[in-house]
Amino acid sequence: MRLSRYFLPILREVPKEAEIVSHRLMLRAGMIRQESAGIYAWLPLGKRVLDKICAVIREEQNRSGAIEIMMPTIQSADLWRESGRYEDYGKEMLRIKDRHEREMLYGPTNEEMLTEIVRAYVKSYKDLPLNLYHIQWKFRDEVRPRFGVMRSREFLMKDAYSVDLDFESAVAAYNRMFVAYLRTFERLGLKAIPMVADTGPIGGNHSHEFIILATTGESQVFCHSAYLEMPTPDSGVDFDNAGELQSIVNRWTSHYAATEEKHDEEAFAAIPEENRLSARGIEVGHIFYFGTKYSEPMGAKVAGPDGVERPVHMGSYGIGPSRLAAAIIEASHDENGIIWPEAIAPFRVGVLNLKAGDAATDAACESIYAELTARGVDVLYDDTDERPGSKFATADLIGLPWQIIVGPKGLAAGTVELKRRADGSRETLPVEAALAKIV
Ligand code: ATP
Ligand code: MG
Ligand code: MG
Ligand code: MG
Repeated sequence: MRLSRYFLPILREVPKEAEIVSHRLMLRAGMIRQESAGIYAWLPLGKRVLDKICAVIREEQNRSGAIEIMMPTIQSADLWRESGRYEDYGKEMLRIKDRHEREMLYGPTNEEMLTEIVRAYVKSYKDLPLNLYHIQWKFRDEVRPRFGVMRSREFLMKDAYSVDLDFESAVAAYNRMFVAYLRTFERLGLKAIPMVADTGPIGGNHSHEFIILATTGESQVFCHSAYLEMPTPDSGVDFDNAGELQSIVNRWTSHYAATEEKHDEEAFAAIPEENRLSARGIEVGHIFYFGTKYSEPMGAKVAGPDGVERPVHMGSYGIGPSRLAAAIIEASHDENGIIWPEAIAPFRVGVLNLKAGDAATDAACESIYAELTARGVDVLYDDTDERPGSKFATADLIGLPWQIIVGPKGLAAGTVELKRRADGSRETLPVEAALAKIV
């Protein structure tokens, strides 16, 4: 992409309305634009990041055996009356009437709809296990939308729903998602700690919130510091091997980790003092086994091997890609701007032409741009006639991981400069050597 033809509305001033650094940087980098309270448009740079986050989530969901679908944003109130949640959900639900006065709603989540789909098609234990997911916009009329896309009213969610014959196989499904989440957050460059979360009336141990530690987090969390060093399972993990998955989950639940609602002072005090971590955290994901809570009232039943029909055991598994875009910035930035992990950077490489209009510099930049593009690298070529200082500032603000700086002086000596955003290091080297470091 040539910057001269791109749409990158950078703000030089620090926006006053933004209270936390990720919100400020997303506005300054031209990633998002507020359209109403808690409702945002995603501008080109933001859209690229959001898509990359979703791509990682999708790959790991698919690897674990989940199957992608797409359910609508608008749902019928009657569906929610079947589960009893239409009345219970309260003011967070945006309720709408269509022209025929039928009651509709903008989905805050999809348990009911998924249960309805299962009820319609899944009749036998032979159709199980099943895990269906989608990545779709949700609406929750949050009392206090704030911090930009961190807590917005309209937000993107990946929500998966597992369907199983009994408790044991539902636990296996839960473990698959648990491990898929560990891998997802690791690939997004985050240390997310699974913390025991509330299961409400269902009880049991099968609800975890995945939390990343950040001073601007909205919840208070408590855990053992061992989680910060724990290795995450690699891509070779076998999702068909229930024993292997259980041992990973056992390791990742072997130390104390709980959110405020489930905090147990006594258990926390038993941790050696130097390992006690009490911090603020951001919930980026949540997995939850809820058994027959929806299948029972909604009549989603399958016949078991004995021919007897029983309600299916289900779980739901959410990740917030739009919140993640902000959370990643909270975890990875400096005073100059965003530092994207390579996997989700909007562009992996920036090519900075320090003297646009100078024939030799233009030609060198064009050739680097063409070469990288041909090799499948996402490049943002700053071909504008801005001052060098402003180009450096923009590249750092929007967090381009690699920056190739091309100017007439260097070219005369046959070199360019290669800068790494992560540590600010710079090297002077021939073009070919610079490219070799990137691809
Ligand atoms: P919170 O405690 O932050 O209100 P939640 O527990 O209500 O979140 P879930 O119902 O568990 O959220 O939804 C799954 C995921 O969706 C969350 O872990 C989070 O990543 C994301 N999410 C939830 N609410 C919002 C929101 N208002 N804005 C952005 N992302 C959200
Ligand atoms: Mg909430
Ligand atoms: Mg929560
Ligand atoms: Mg939650």
